[in-house]
Amino acid sequence: MADMTITSPQAIPYCDETACIAAQCVPTLCVGKGVPSNEKLYARSSDVIPGGVNSSIRAFKSVGGSPYIVARGNGAHIWDVEGKKYVDLVQSYGAIILGHAHPAVTAAIQQAATDGTSYGAPTPREMKLAETISSRVASCEQVRLMNSGTEATSTAVRLARGATGRKVIVTFAGNFHGATDALLVAGGSGIATLGLPGTAGVPDEAVANTMVAPYNVVPRLTNDVAAVIVEPVAANMGVVAPAPGFLEGLRQECDRVGALLIFDEVITGFRLGRGGAQAKFDVRPDLTCFGKVIGGGLPIGAVGGRRDIMSVLTPNGKVFHAGTLAGNPLATAAGLAALNELTDDVYMEISARARHGASLLRDICSAAGINAHFPVVGTLVGMYIGKNGDASQQLPHNFDEAKTTDEKMYAQLFHAMLKEGVAMAPGAYEAIFFGLAHTDEVFAELARAAERAVAQVQH
Ligand SMILES: *Cc1c(COP(=O)(O)O)cnc(C)c1O
Repeated sequence: MADMTITSPQAIPYCDETACIAAQCVPTLCVGKGVPSNEKLYARSSDVIPGGVNSSIRAFKSVGGSPYIVARGNGAHIWDVEGKKYVDLVQSYGAIILGHAHPAVTAAIQQAATDGTSYGAPTPREMKLAETISSRVASCEQVRLMNSGTEATSTAVRLARGATGRKVIVTFAGNFHGATDALLVAGGSGIATLGLPGTAGVPDEAVANTMVAPYNVVPRLTNDVAAVIVEPVAANMGVVAPAPGFLEGLRQECDRVGALLIFDEVITGFRLGRGGAQAKFDVRPDLTCFGKVIGGGLPIGAVGGRRDIMSVLTPNGKVFHAGTLAGNPLATAAGLAALNELTDDVYMEISARARHGASLLRDICSAAGINAHFPVVGTLVGMYIGKNGDASQQLPHNFDEAKTTDEKMYAQLFHAMLKEGVAMAPGAYEAIFFGLAHTDEVFAELARAAERAVAQVQH
C-alpha cells in the first residue's frame, strides 16, 4: 500500500519563531511550534475565522466531523498538514481541471508575479483572456472580467434588469448561482413560485422579484421577466442533465416575451468542452457567467454575451460595474495558461476518464450492495444514492428528486473514503471532479481505496 504512506509534510514548516528565522523557513507558511495536526489547526482557525472556514461547505457540517487542512496539492493528489495523501475528487469544486500545481499554470503565475500583481490599469493579458473566451464561446461577443462566479451572476442579473428595464428574474430549484442576494431563494416545488429568502440576511424585498421554477420544465413566462438564469447542466444537486428540449424551450420562451436567457456556466464553462454547455447542447444564451476553470485556480469570474447587451455596462452604458482587482494579472495569466492546455483532445481524454471513474465507483458500490448511481454528462460526474432494494431507481431530473438521495449513507461513505485516502466533497450534492491528472495509475489507487471504504459502510 505504497499509496497510503504517510510522508513527512514538507510544505508546512513548524518550529518556534526564532528557529524559524534561523532555518529560513517561510514565515507566511509557518504555523509555529509543534507538529501540526488537522484538529489543532482547525481549532485555531475556528477561533479567528467563523466556523474555521472561508466557504461554508468546507466545515463538514453536512457529513459531520472536522475538516482536513491542506498543506499542498500536486496533480490528482492533496496532502494534509499531517502528511496524509489523498486522491482528490474535489479539485477546488471544479476550478482545477488540469490537476493541482500544473507546471504550465504555475510557471505562468510565477512569471506574471515578477511584473507586479495589480495596477489599476488595463493589461494585455485581460485582453487576451477575453479574446480567448470570445473566440471559443460563440455567444460571447464581449466579455467583462471580474473576481468570482458570485460577482458574475450578480452582475448578469443587474445587467439584464438594466438592459430590459424589467425586474423579474426566473431561477430553478436546485440550481446554485453563488452568494448573490437576488438568487439566494428557497427552491419551491411544483409550478413557478415566488421566491422566499433562502438564508437569513436577505430581506423578502431582495427576492420579491425572483421566481423559482422546477428544473427541467419550461416555465410559462410573463412579459415582466427580465431574465431566466439557469445552470445548463445542473451540477449543484448532484449532476442533472437538461431534459431534451429544456434549454431550447427556455430559449424560445425567452424570445416570446423578450426576456434574456442567462446561462450560469461557472462550472460547465471550459469544463464540458471548449464551447461549454451551450456548444454541447447547441443553444445560444444572451449572457453567460463564468468562473472556476477560467482562472486556473485563481479568483476570477466573467460575464460574456451579446455586444448590444454588454455595451449597457459602464463606462459605455448605464449599468454600473467595477472592481479593484478585476482582470487581475495573476488570475488572467493562470487562466490563459489553463485554457491554452484545453484542446478538444484533452476534453475527449477527460470525458473518457470521467466515464471510467464513474463506472469504477458504480461497480465497487454495487458489489458492496450500495445502490449508488453516477450520472455522467461529458466530463462531469454526479452521485445519487437510491433507496436500497429499489434497482429500478430513476436518476433525478429535478431538485425534489435529487433530494431523495441517501445523505446518511453518503456521509458514511465520505468518511470511509477519507480514511482510506480519497477526498470527496463533504456534501451529497456536489459533483465529482475528474480531470487530466486522474490517470490510470490514480484510478487503480482510487479503486483499491474505494473497495476498502465500501466494506466499512453499514446498510
Ligand atoms: C461555484 C458556482 C458559482 C459561484 O462562484 P464563486 O466563484 O464561488 O463565487 C456560481 N454558479 C455556479 C453554477 C457555481 O457552481
